[in-house]
Amino acid sequence: MMRSRKRKLQLPNPSPVKSEIVENKDNVASESMNGPYSTHTRPTSEECRAVRDDLLALHGFPPEFAKYLSKRRKVNHNSSTDAVGSPSSFPPSPLLPSVKSEPREDGEDETESLLDGLVSTILSQNTTDANSTRAFASLKRAFPTWEDVHAAESKCIENAIKCGGLAGRKASCIKNLLTTLLEKNGKICLEYLRDMSVDEIKAELCRFKGIGSKTVACVLMFHLQQDDFPVDTHVFRITKAMGWVPVQADRGKAYLHLNKRIPNELKFDLNCLFVTHGKICQMCGKKVANQQRASCGQPCPLSKYYCSTDLK
Ligand SMILES: [Zn+2]
Repeated sequence: MMRSRKRKLQLPNPSPVKSEIVENKDNVASESMNGPYSTHTRPTSEECRAVRDDLLALHGFPPEFAKYLSKRRKVNHNSSTDAVGSPSSFPPSPLLPSVKSEPREDGEDETESLLDGLVSTILSQNTTDANSTRAFASLKRAFPTWEDVHAAESKCIENAIKCGGLAGRKASCIKNLLTTLLEKNGKICLEYLRDMSVDEIKAELCRFKGIGSKTVACVLMFHLQQDDFPVDTHVFRITKAMGWVPVQADRGKAYLHLNKRIPNELKFDLNCLFVTHGKICQMCGKKVANQQRASCGQPCPLSKYYCSTDLK
């Protein structure tokens, strides 16, 4: 079952490429103090809660994110960072699922390491959840340990993850990550991040080539159970159409702004709901806003919040 590929790394680091993997690293830490749009006073906390509750009423809590919800409840290390059900200014919605044990799923179980989480996030860029899950499982089958991955030639890593798309770039990113960790810390492990603050984690991870603010935000939210608000294509489109971010905002600035404005205790719920809604709703999922009905046959609850008929 174990395939040994202990060849030495021969390929040099590739030259920088234009790619969404090579994310914008600008100002993740420096602008986090005030945000890029300090005079843009939306969304308000009340808007965030209203939208969260409207989307919950439509979809319920998205089952694809239930395992992360379960993890957050288990961790519950700090009431101020517990997104759902925390004793915060907003009580938990009765529409949220009750606390219960969630079944373990492939690739996301109790033994998942932070490095597993980061690599699975890298593999999820620019592809579907199903493809990235397959790519991660394929990588683990081919190379059972991260040391095995590090010892492998980039081409072999690329072959193992090709079903996830952009395999060459992702393989380079993973290889560089593992090499840097080994050179810097003497071992291939990311668990030391658990002792760091959110800002320290952001600064640390953004040093790795090919790892940008969105990937870091996903790791914080899904794998470290911290309160952060990654801005993917769905989140960006929907929040801009609602006027939560200025029309001129790019995704990087939207991320900084939304993280300043959205209450911590609502970030996880809202993010999961926006992503799911963006995938399901015909109105919000496409660049047309004149459609009145979501795919489920009910009017889209977000239409009343939209300030423009041109979804970006
Ligand atoms: Zn919608």
